[in-house]
Amino acid sequence: MTVSVRAYAKLNLYLDITGRLENGYHSLNTVTQSVDVYDDIIVCIKPSDAFGCHIRCDNADIPCDSRNTAYKAAELFCKTAGVKADIEISIYKRVPLMGGMGGSSVDAAGVLYAMNLLFSHFRSDVRLYELAAQIGADVPICLAGGTLASEKESRNLHRINCSSDCFFVCVYPDFTLNTREAFRLYDVSPTKSDNGFERYISQLKAKGILGSGGLIKNSFTELHKDERIYRIKSELKACGARASELTGSGSVVYGIFRDGNNALNAKQRLCERFPRVFVCKSVDCGVKSL
Ligand code: ATP
Repeated sequence: MTVSVRAYAKLNLYLDITGRLENGYHSLNTVTQSVDVYDDIIVCIKPSDAFGCHIRCDNADIPCDSRNTAYKAAELFCKTAGVKADIEISIYKRVPLMGGMGGSSVDAAGVLYAMNLLFSHFRSDVRLYELAAQIGADVPICLAGGTLASEKESRNLHRINCSSDCFFVCVYPDFTLNTREAFRLYDVSPTKSDNGFERYISQLKAKGILGSGGLIKNSFTELHKDERIYRIKSELKACGARASELTGSGSVVYGIFRDGNNALNAKQRLCERFPRVFVCKSVDCGVKSL
């Protein structure tokens, strides 16, 4: 039996680090938006009396063994559901790696979704989200998709109804940023949290993504203090973006545009200097069957 799914990337419209937890992790307030940048994943299961998982991916930089999040998702699903199968997973990779767009989380979300279709196991989504959270903090977000708010250490995701009629121009530069170092800097000197999260959410509901663009935020921008990031943000603004920000812990920087032609012109200008620039739009789901 085979199932094909499409798993969408996310952008962080808001990311505020709110504290350090006892377990060493950090609590975050986030708002995320799924966008039409995606991986296509084919999952094929054959009856077997032992678990087996074979991964193929068209990007040679990605490990195809148990380090792959798709493998982790398949293994965790089988263990929790008490099923055994020989699983073949093919990943057609389009979501940037180390970009802050959920590069590895989307595949875990896609595989969990596909496995649940194949085995019709978890009738309530709640269990599937618990598995997703065990693989990584962004996996439930990539599974649920759309516009989502997530507050502090709570694992609850709140769907936000808002207008998402805008275009994103994403710049994927030729450098990555060190997330661990950014968290270390936070621990030494925590960035201040204000009531910006609540303000952003109420503006988002009232005015949509474009209208609330002035309030987007990412704590990692303040922590990294990387000139190259500030430069890309200003270049996007100079090209007509209403607002621009880093997504996740970087290094993709996006700009929010009202108009599609403006967005395409910005892409044209920026792709002369950056290795990958793309225009995308919002989608209201995280994973869908093909
Ligand atoms: P996030 O937005 O969730 O912070 P990110 O884009 O910053 O994510 P990822 O792309 O999720 O970072 O992580 C990339 C790393 O994960 C790479 O080092 C890669 O080797 C590893 N990895 C494991 N499985 C996968 C996968 N299925 N797809 C992409 N990368 C994977």
